[in-house]
Amino acid sequence: MNDSPDRPLAPPYICRDCGSEVGFRSRRRTLIERFILRLFLLMPVRCGECFRRDYRLIFTPVRDRLPDSPRVNPGKVTPASNRNVA
Ligand SMILES: [Zn+2]
Repeated sequence: MNDSPDRPLAPPYICRDCGSEVGFRSRRRTLIERFILRLFLLMPVRCGECFRRDYRLIFTPVRDRLPDSPRVNPGKVTPASNRNVA
């Protein structure tokens, strides 16, 4: 959990678009991302200023995900939804 802020291997995150040094971890969206990025020790990072999405080394010091998603209790499923579960 506690990443050391400065590792010699990892350059700090700097956005290629706006030059911001604030990056946030982004969620891996596809299986390809999960698989390929892990092979190359990369992770998706989103710029905190212009929200450009980019890939960085997993050692790059960035912040955790933005808590922008509304907190809905995932444990409760509305029984009204009539889904076909294969
Ligand atoms: Zn940016």
